[in-house]
Amino acid sequence: MAIDELLAQFHEIAASPRKQLGKYLAQGRKVVACAPVYTPEEIIHSMGLVPMGVWGAEMEVHEAKKYYPAFICSIMQTVLELGITGKFEGISAIVIPSLCDSLKSLGQNWKYAVPGIPFIPMTYPQNRKPDYGVKFTKASYEKVISDLEIATGAKFSEILLAESNRIYNEHNAAMREFAETAADHAITAVQRSDVFKSAWFMLKEEHTALVRQLTAELKKAPADEGKVRVVTSGILADSPGLLEIFDKNGIKIVADDVAQESRQYRTDVPEKPNPLDALAQKFADMDNCSVLYDRDKKRVGFIVDLAQKHNAAGVIVLMTKFCDPEEFDYVPIKRACDAAGLRNVNIEVDCQMVNYEQAGTMLQAFKEMG
Ligand code: SF4
Repeated sequence: MAIDELLAQFHEIAASPRKQLGKYLAQGRKVVACAPVYTPEEIIHSMGLVPMGVWGAEMEVHEAKKYYPAFICSIMQTVLELGITGKFEGISAIVIPSLCDSLKSLGQNWKYAVPGIPFIPMTYPQNRKPDYGVKFTKASYEKVISDLEIATGAKFSEILLAESNRIYNEHNAAMREFAETAADHAITAVQRSDVFKSAWFMLKEEHTALVRQLTAELKKAPADEGKVRVVTSGILADSPGLLEIFDKNGIKIVADDVAQESRQYRTDVPEKPNPLDALAQKFADMDNCSVLYDRDKKRVGFIVDLAQKHNAAGVIVLMTKFCDPEEFDYVPIKRACDAAGLRNVNIEVDCQMVNYEQAGTMLQAFKEMG
């Protein structure tokens, strides 16, 4: 398939999750919603269910305001709004992890606001690396399995989980290769985002096949030169209105530290005799993310290294409004970028953002800093 056709396909899927949901339901598949930031999708996939990411949407919030104060991130507000207004109709359950305070409250509100879709909590340990942390994660996965069996009637098997772990590792590798290829070849910020976003609405084996085709075609495309190379960081970077400003100003994303994008694909499930132990170890092995506890904040150095490795001029932080974990990390990130001579800017983003003028001015100023 030609590169334009592939990109059009990614765009279509990224822009219409409801259509994807309808497609899987029409095939007789059961679909389970996965809230941010890390959900054990491999388990859901292995049980023959379709995991589908829910990261909110660009929309006005009305009903969710009855449950949330105004000062909570718009991802949580819009996920709840979509649930209350029936946009997830047909979904068999939602798994909500406990990785930040807002996520903890989403689960509690969900139970009352959307009683028709069972809420399955995924409780992660704060200290994920020691043995007791890995055991805690595994026990939480066992509870998720039992809740999924009750909510969907599907059955769990270790053999099938081992296969799903393999499929997810393959997808991770395909996404990493795509991100590296996209750093040097012609693809816009909007198109790059479509590739990452569509992954949330497709079975991973289907997405892997499409991404591999695109990466192969991109490698044949001309090198993308003369642009201002940047690394993006934040929870979400999928707003077309914002990304178009990147493209208009010749700002090229050469790597990202975005939770909805590359943070998902950095860590593979390791080889272990028991696949559930292996999956729990994967969570322990994950790092460099605002919602994964790290007293030493190694993420800061990671972002600087990422920018230097990709020959980036700077780092653009897309700060989700009212996201405490990201706000706590911002000051050390800014200091480290300044010390390393990397341009940096902090742009506040929100799912209810309709006007990108201020962001446009900031990005233009960022471009001219060089
Ligand atoms: S990590 Fe930030 S953006 Fe994500 S749910 Fe928590 S507060 Fe919201």
